[in-house]
Amino acid sequence: MSQEESLVWEIGDRPRLPLTVLRERPSSEAKLWPGAIPAVSFNLEGIDVYTNTDCPFMCEHCFLTTQELHTKDRMDLGTVEQITQWAAQPGSKIEEITLLGGEFSIHPQAADIIKLVGNTQKIDGTFLRPRIVTNGGKPFQNLLADEEVVQILQKSRVAVSIEAANPELNDRFRGQGAATNAWRTVDLLVEHGIPVDINCTVMRSTVHDAMRLANYAYHKGARRINFHSFSPIGRGHNLQDEAMTSKEWGRFCDLMAGYKSALKDDYGINDFTVDVEFAYDYGVPTVEARNACAIADGTNLQFRPPVRGSKDCAVLACGLTMPDPDKSAYVFRDGNLYQRRGDSEHRLVGIGAVRACCPLPFRQQPEGEPQPICVYTRIDHGLAVKNAYRVPNTQWSILGKLAFDDYASERDGNQ
Ligand code: SF4
Ligand code: SF4
Repeated sequence: MSQEESLVWEIGDRPRLPLTVLRERPSSEAKLWPGAIPAVSFNLEGIDVYTNTDCPFMCEHCFLTTQELHTKDRMDLGTVEQITQWAAQPGSKIEEITLLGGEFSIHPQAADIIKLVGNTQKIDGTFLRPRIVTNGGKPFQNLLADEEVVQILQKSRVAVSIEAANPELNDRFRGQGAATNAWRTVDLLVEHGIPVDINCTVMRSTVHDAMRLANYAYHKGARRINFHSFSPIGRGHNLQDEAMTSKEWGRFCDLMAGYKSALKDDYGINDFTVDVEFAYDYGVPTVEARNACAIADGTNLQFRPPVRGSKDCAVLACGLTMPDPDKSAYVFRDGNLYQRRGDSEHRLVGIGAVRACCPLPFRQQPEGEPQPICVYTRIDHGLAVKNAYRVPNTQWSILGKLAFDDYASERDGNQ
């Protein structure tokens, strides 16, 4: 780490938060309110479909529990088709279906699912786009041998999860060989003309490597990198010290804003997007954004695979506060979406507790510090960054350049 970086990334002591163990209860017959809810009722351009929760990677920081990663509950093709038809209903604003797990590509019908979604036409003549989130392992690479899959993904996008430019650092969390495979997947996607994003979960151990990762992603041909903050849930609950405080995350937001301006102003790079989750209230530009809650606003739906023995899919409106499928806001049954009765995510909205629980206990900060905002809120940092912890503009630019040039000389030296 350079002297400049060590000044900026100096990390203080972090108070330990109470450890919360998430339990999944056995699924029972859900009680539903009558009346199917159409897709047009939601303010959604995309939905998440978890086709399976199993994944061989067993990352240390995974948001899923070990039990979930071992569970072989899978959504069958018929259920995916019903969800796709629901999403394509007349009037629906949904354009994209994100397919994820666990690891989506180990679903035995992964290629068929991509084709099913990608060949679904809406009444306005447009086709739904299947977006894939993957760890970039061999099963995903194998999917690219299918020409029709490639053609569909060329009109969509794939996000590859990578936590650090340094392969050893990445593999410390994601397992040996993960970095090599993931970058090989990025190469394959670029070769096939498929738009590629990098998804990065930022932790205290990896934050110093973030700009380098962004540089590497850009030079590899990715068109976007998406940084989001680590929440110690699922397997990650053992890594509480890896979660950054709101102060530390504010510094990171500032630096990445500077990095973005350096890319644009100093290097003229306009075809690479750097997105950073806002996460905390550093001066949110509007009251709506400050009080946003995806449950109340209907801006997020996550379809989960049916629990064995049931045909119902739990549909979570938040997912962070309620990993228990029996408390999902909605249930998908026989091709229709229904609101769940009783104790559910909606109950939190009803008693006005959502803001307080969000996303307690993982991100709540000491009094006087910026408090969490809804993780699903997307804000242009340019609007709010002036209120965050400040690093002077010049220093932003210098750091951005340092990281960029550092990578460029390393790359040239290796040629
Ligand atoms: S973080 Fe992703 S790749 Fe890692 S175990 Fe979880 S689902 Fe698998
Ligand atoms: S993170 Fe909090 S505010 Fe956002 S949807 Fe979940 S409960 Fe609501």
